[in-house]
Amino acid sequence: MKKPLIGVTINFDESTFVYSVNQTYVKSVSKAGGIPVLISYANEEDVAALAKRLDGFLFTGGPDMDPSFFGEEPVPGIGSINPTRDNYEMKLVAAVMKTGKPILAICRGCQLLNVACGGTLIQDIYSQYKVDNLIKHVQVAPRWHKSHSVNLMPNTKFNEVFPGKTTIKVNSYHHQAIKELAPGWILAAQAPDGIIEAAEATNYPFLLAAQWHPECFFEFTDFDLLFKKFIKACK
Ligand code: MN
Repeated sequence: MKKPLIGVTINFDESTFVYSVNQTYVKSVSKAGGIPVLISYANEEDVAALAKRLDGFLFTGGPDMDPSFFGEEPVPGIGSINPTRDNYEMKLVAAVMKTGKPILAICRGCQLLNVACGGTLIQDIYSQYKVDNLIKHVQVAPRWHKSHSVNLMPNTKFNEVFPGKTTIKVNSYHHQAIKELAPGWILAAQAPDGIIEAAEATNYPFLLAAQWHPECFFEFTDFDLLFKKFIKACK
């Protein structure tokens, strides 16, 4: 069977003009049966052509979203903002969603897709999210280490990825999270402190968004359940 071409968004350093991406993303796409194609931010007018020619899109982790995209001023705890990437990815999401092609969104990607579909974010969990049982979402441990648990919601595509499980453990490298889910989205996984860890669109053929980093598990035998489901949807 023909391998699908998977567009992968990458980091862009606004001061050095250097593009970069963690190899775990492209290894995960490749191991699951896709051909990773790294997307540059050279020309925003190219998004429709990319959406047409590629078979699926992986929106990867990276810096914080500019809160002006969801109508907020930046709070003191917000991290670095990358306008070039924000602007390009927002246009790319819109172009891809016109085609109905599969989308897997990870960490920043999860936040980006939720905002692009009309949702909002917690800009900084530690200063804005007040609960007694708050857990550590920026782990100090190897990236493959699964530091906290998440509860999986029944009757979701995510639940199909982890059949028979109600709880899994994940890694965690985020200080932002989804606040209000975009219209048509449903909760798919939640940390014990209430933070949304995964969500999916019910009004789109395939749009899964995870707050954790499944690509860091690519060396494990069971790493690629989520990637395999995504790549299968792209064929
Ligand atoms: Mn987390």
